[in-house]
Amino acid sequence: MSTINRYEELVGKNTIDELRMLSGYLEGKVIQHINSTAMGGGVAEILQRIVPLMQELGVNAQWDVIKGNRDFFEVTKAMHNALHGKKVNITGKMWDIFDEVSRENLREMNLYGDIMFVHDPQPVALIGRRNKMKGSKWIWRCHVDVSSPDKKVWNFLEGFANKYDAAVFSSPHFAHRMKTRQALISPSIDPFSDKNRELSQNEIDTVLNKYKIDPQAKPIVCQISRYDALKDPVGVIQAYRLVKKYVDCQLLLVGNRAADDPESDRIYQQVIEAAGGDPDIHALLVEDIPYEINAFQRVSKVIIQKSIREGFALTVSEALWKAKPVVASAVGGIPLQITHKYSGLLCHSIEGAAFYIKQLLNAPEYAAKLGAKGHEHIRQNFLLTRHLREHMLLFLSLYHKGYVVTFGQAKR
Ligand code: UDP
Repeated sequence: MSTINRYEELVGKNTIDELRMLSGYLEGKVIQHINSTAMGGGVAEILQRIVPLMQELGVNAQWDVIKGNRDFFEVTKAMHNALHGKKVNITGKMWDIFDEVSRENLREMNLYGDIMFVHDPQPVALIGRRNKMKGSKWIWRCHVDVSSPDKKVWNFLEGFANKYDAAVFSSPHFAHRMKTRQALISPSIDPFSDKNRELSQNEIDTVLNKYKIDPQAKPIVCQISRYDALKDPVGVIQAYRLVKKYVDCQLLLVGNRAADDPESDRIYQQVIEAAGGDPDIHALLVEDIPYEINAFQRVSKVIIQKSIREGFALTVSEALWKAKPVVASAVGGIPLQITHKYSGLLCHSIEGAAFYIKQLLNAPEYAAKLGAKGHEHIRQNFLLTRHLREHMLLFLSLYHKGYVVTFGQAKR
């Protein structure tokens, strides 16, 4: 059965009929998504699912990736950290590197969309091609938590973003006064992907054997995230140590590398040092194999997302979809997914995280209740079908003034 038809059981026939109708209005339009990595991180995860589903609906959606060297990605990671509010000194040389690689991409990339859908800061300068693409519409999709960004970096980016027809953010907290109009569209997960589908016990066992993890030995507390300081893996270890004084458990940290994130090896080393050889801490640096992540989430008793800043955290939706109790920081897009003490637990510190992890390990019925509510919340709000609908409405709004999903100081 096609993916879109399978969705009917989850979200109802009307939703699917509406998607088919909206996609009909986009006939003849090419949507070209552009980002900075084909693998690793939430943006690639979303594009891997949303592009094929749009194609299945008959929309000509495509996805291309900019080229960048290590220096460029060092600069864009520094910008990323600065947007998340970290004190970072972007030197003149760093701005030059950004400029130089942006120009190379402008020269060499095949840009062909009627609607250009550009994700995050790395490719933002592609808007420089706009004048040569008559009639094209441009959307800048910011996946970053820009609630309190470094002013200099934000102003630099805004200079580009304001030339787009619309800027899209994941949470109302990220809105800024901008000259272009803004839309609020949260990310989503695909329940039928290898990351989220039901797994057989045999599949789960294969993964556990591969990594020598025994979920029967001690309850597993788990965080799945790129090794990035903003995901605070060392803070997770500290929280685990506090829990461990009261409840015997094992900690599973799982992270991959993203092509546009040069920091993961350094942060992974910090994690290994912080783990200090504790045999109950499994810190895995893994390849991108979605069903393995799925298995880790399914065998965990509690899932943590102790981010310091967070654009959205797909990992939270993924865990809640599997009806897992989640303890997560109240930052960025996480409170959209978790209502405290209803569909999960929100924390503000290492001690707070530890307190709630301990509580959940001690109260499995309460944990199951939170997980069940969380699952339903994701079904209603964060599946790919809702995301697709909002994308298509946004596309159509670019051709028909009068508007559906704006907020902030939009200039019409
Ligand atoms: N992920 C993965 N393997 C890993 C770590 C993360 O496949 O080792 C996935 C994770 O399941 C999620 C995405 O990468 O789908 C991360 O998205 P999120 O929004 O949580 O964070 P980001 O990395 O974009 O900051």
